[in-house]
Amino acid sequence: MLYIAGSGRSGSTLLERLLGQLEGVATLGEVHHMWLRAIDKDEQCGCTCSFSHCPFWTRVGQSAFGGWQNVSTEEVERLKSLVDRQRYQPLTASPLTSRAMSAKIDNYTKYYSAVYKAVHETTGARIIVDSGKHPSLALALTHRNDIDLRVVHLVRDSRGVSYSWGKAVHRPEATSEEDSMMQQYSPLVSSILWTSTNLAAEALRFRGVPRYRMRYEELVSEPQLALDKMFKALDLPSGEILPIDEQGTIELSPNHSAAGNPMRFKVGTTTLRPDAEWRTKMKVQDRRLVSALTAPLRYWYGYTG
Ligand SMILES: [Zn+2]
Repeated sequence: MLYIAGSGRSGSTLLERLLGQLEGVATLGEVHHMWLRAIDKDEQCGCTCSFSHCPFWTRVGQSAFGGWQNVSTEEVERLKSLVDRQRYQPLTASPLTSRAMSAKIDNYTKYYSAVYKAVHETTGARIIVDSGKHPSLALALTHRNDIDLRVVHLVRDSRGVSYSWGKAVHRPEATSEEDSMMQQYSPLVSSILWTSTNLAAEALRFRGVPRYRMRYEELVSEPQLALDKMFKALDLPSGEILPIDEQGTIELSPNHSAAGNPMRFKVGTTTLRPDAEWRTKMKVQDRRLVSALTAPLRYWYGYTG
């Protein structure tokens, strides 16, 4: 299991899509959103079928639970609220977990374990990718003995992340008007989120899980090198060459991402380019605010200037 952790708008969907072009890699999207968005609301899978009509997820649901109708998404969401939240991260990151908390973690993460196992059984994939981003879920998953977990922590310059959070992005998969747009955050809130999420991802070091920090900027400019370094650091089976040319052009094939950024629907010829629009378009006062608020961790990650 390869879990992509990091702040939203850091390029996790891009990383997942690139990994999905490799043989033996199954990419699932953001599984923690699957319960409500895909199962309950029947939003589109990355393959553009509605979730209930996607042959991939139908097979997985059958193998994992005897069909998705046997999963109480209310129960999963209830457990999520008791485990998979920022405020519980000190508890899930701790080597000393109370018996009560351990039971909640086990009850919650067993749903993920069942999904991952079913994907492995139905696809035979060597590597299964969950691009959930939230470190809170990654921390909870480290408590399971039946998941061989590796984490790639994706970081991106906080100014680029904040600028992206400010954009209005349509959700083509929405089945209701209220879900039609992606979440937006102000520079203040996105700065707080960027710092808290990245610090929580750093807390994975206390759980002894193999992890590797990748920079979005390197992934976009030198994708093969970035993936090679990640595979080596996480001791994952590799050796495959990404089908990408020197101009950064790649043919993206359809995928079965259950939930996530609309980029999951992109197929065909795509050219990778660093998204550096914030450098010229971000308001000066926003840039100053984000630069100041995220300064300590930003400098630590090497985003100076
Ligand atoms: Zn599908």
